[in-house]
Amino acid sequence: MNRTPPQSLQAAAVRLGTPLSPGATRVLLLGAGELGKEVIIALQRLGVEVIAADRYPDAPGHQVAHRAHVLNMADPAALRALIERERPQLVVPEIEAIATDVLLQVEREGLATVIPSARAAHLTMNREGIRRLAAEELGLPTSPYRFADSLAELEAAVDAVGLPCLVKPVMSSSGKGQSKVDRREELAKAWEYAGAGGRVSLGRVIVEGFIDFDYEITQLTVRARAADGTTETRFCEPIGHVQVHGDYVESWQPQPMSAAALAAARDYAGRVTASLGGLGIFGVELFVKGDRVWFSEVSPRPHDTGLVTLATQWQSEFELHARALLGLPVESSLRNPGASRVIYGGVDAAGIVFDGIDEALRIEGTDLRLFGKPESFVRRRMGVALARGDDIAQARDRATAAAAAVRPRAAP
Ligand code: AMP
Repeated sequence: MNRTPPQSLQAAAVRLGTPLSPGATRVLLLGAGELGKEVIIALQRLGVEVIAADRYPDAPGHQVAHRAHVLNMADPAALRALIERERPQLVVPEIEAIATDVLLQVEREGLATVIPSARAAHLTMNREGIRRLAAEELGLPTSPYRFADSLAELEAAVDAVGLPCLVKPVMSSSGKGQSKVDRREELAKAWEYAGAGGRVSLGRVIVEGFIDFDYEITQLTVRARAADGTTETRFCEPIGHVQVHGDYVESWQPQPMSAAALAAARDYAGRVTASLGGLGIFGVELFVKGDRVWFSEVSPRPHDTGLVTLATQWQSEFELHARALLGLPVESSLRNPGASRVIYGGVDAAGIVFDGIDEALRIEGTDLRLFGKPESFVRRRMGVALARGDDIAQARDRATAAAAAVRPRAAP
């Protein structure tokens, strides 16, 4: 276990009170999607007063919070006004597109504690910040990379990185605006696609050499307060997953790994999370080939592939995050093998209904989360099927069958 001195505000556990009373512990979630919703439920169980913000009304987390706000969190003035109005003790970013300068300011002024830290939110909102930290400061192995601000620079970047490569907007997640380029003739299209898919039209891309990995994992890593007030780092069992067009469709835990690969994965995860600092859970994404491991990305918050932990761990990644951010002890061990499989909307419609729920839940060892998103799109993640099993193969089969049994459709 790796120990570092605590941040001053986290030297002691947060005192818990009664929601909606003067002694309440108030937590503001910036982002209230399906991951935020589960964090909020975990906080609610500990009697925390939770305020949820998102860019649209009735987001999943809004529906389970004490108060809900709709705003553009990338707007510094709007974000600052919300924090001043709600005066939370803790601010918990659940998305990347946030005016992180405001978070840095808020932390500096001692107005609230940012989870895990304002620096972590700031560095990871942009692929450039985290890549430079991991590869150039910490010396972790990554794919070869270059940045480019124009098509001409992109062409030069590809000369340096080689083909095949991936072109990604620096400000994007979940594969948005990302393309794999096998031939130089495809570069103009990739440049245009990156411009359309980026969250902010920054016009800057990262070009990454393609890593021909055997499998990829999420190494969930928790930084929590130890009994002596230091910060300890705990690791969950590795999560294996399948991505289609940069979006996760299936995950399972534990992913079998060689001892050498697991040790390297944890070494890299421990180093990058220690550098980002603070308390909470991190999803460290790594590529593995034999005993070789490459760092890809890190999210300083629960990770979508970690939804599987709702079926596999004594404390899910959401409970781990809730406990860690309150300065409480965590237990990151596996209970049983399991799997998750995404349920897509399949239709473009508002207020959809789901057929086949009964059939899905009759499959042994399964469970479901339906996120309650007000509007469905064909490729929008609307729910997830979860399954435990005697082994990963059984769990994956069960989760796949349960997800297939659920049939979303437009409301009559
Ligand atoms: P990202 O949006 O960076 O998380 O990438 C989404 C997915 O694309 C990853 O989970 C991988 O499956 C794939 N991918 C991203 N970067 C690379 C790379 N350099 N080499 C191979 N596959 C990659």
